[in-house]
Amino acid sequence: MTAPCIPRLNLAHLPTPIEPLPRLSDLLGGPRLFIKRDDQTGLALGGNKTRKLEFLVAEAQAQRARTLVTAGAWQSNHCRQTAAAAARCGMDCILVLTGDRPAEATGNLLLDHLLGARIVATPDRGDRDRLLAETVETAAAQGRAPYLVPYGGSNPTGALGYAFAMQEVLAQGSDVDWMAFATSSGGTQAGLVLGQRVFGYGGTLLGVSIDEPASALTSHVAALASDASGALGPRIAFDAADVHVDDRYCGAGYGVLTDLEREAIGIFARTEGILLDPVYTGRAAGGLLDLIRRDFFPSDARILFWHTGGQPALFAEPYRSALIEPRIAHESWAG
Ligand SMILES: *Cc1c(COP(=O)(O)O)cnc(C)c1O
Repeated sequence: MTAPCIPRLNLAHLPTPIEPLPRLSDLLGGPRLFIKRDDQTGLALGGNKTRKLEFLVAEAQAQRARTLVTAGAWQSNHCRQTAAAAARCGMDCILVLTGDRPAEATGNLLLDHLLGARIVATPDRGDRDRLLAETVETAAAQGRAPYLVPYGGSNPTGALGYAFAMQEVLAQGSDVDWMAFATSSGGTQAGLVLGQRVFGYGGTLLGVSIDEPASALTSHVAALASDASGALGPRIAFDAADVHVDDRYCGAGYGVLTDLEREAIGIFARTEGILLDPVYTGRAAGGLLDLIRRDFFPSDARILFWHTGGQPALFAEPYRSALIEPRIAHESWAG
């Protein structure tokens, strides 16, 4: 099944474990829950971008690139994993970071520095594409042989990482009825959708949108899955109707922590000892908990939640402060 000719590096610790969530399942009194630990992919604190980078950096090396250039938010997990992949492969890394510059280098940004990435910044997100193009051009003119890693690693090459993740999860004997995960730049979902078709997963994939309306994301994911399919065999034409996205939990906007994320992070931590992240998995798990409480899933359903990583942001503002509940801080003083 595996097309042998696709260049791929070994950057991740695979397969990542699948664990049952018995206490959380009992607490909710409904479906049986499992978690796929892609927060444990192993490269500089892990996360889902590492699977994509195995294919993207292989492509960069085939093109004789020596510098990885990519862009994201100040707390981008994608940028941190790209910086780590560059270090691991003896390449340089330039990150174009957008948004209000934080007062301190904490969380992912601290790790970007430790991993030796050069940082180019603009406060204006609308200026990002221009600055990214300019950065690539300058690096090329300086003889640095840049390779542009797309936002979130989400192009057809990067999406292959999750097509093979689907093969991996099926080989682990997982027979769940549903798989749920955070979806944003779409590469994870596109890969899973493609892998579902190619490797034969009979259940349903549900992406919980972090920041995009379902209408835009479903067609984007379908196009990405279609474009990635040619690497695995004859091209498959996916349609937006093949892609399921729930966008009811992203109204607060990207990276805005609300009670939804706060509650999900607290429940996973206190019932299972699992740390979610404030931007992606906290929101996706919050959506999943809400859907379970609304009886969206049959009560005997088996659901696998993909933990896609992101925990370094727990230690960065504004998330760190927003997660400290005054009541708990007080109790720990008293106790
Ligand atoms: C990037 C990211 C996602 C979303 O993955 P996409 O492929 O961009 O849709 C989910 N969770 C975490 C922790 C991420 O960093």
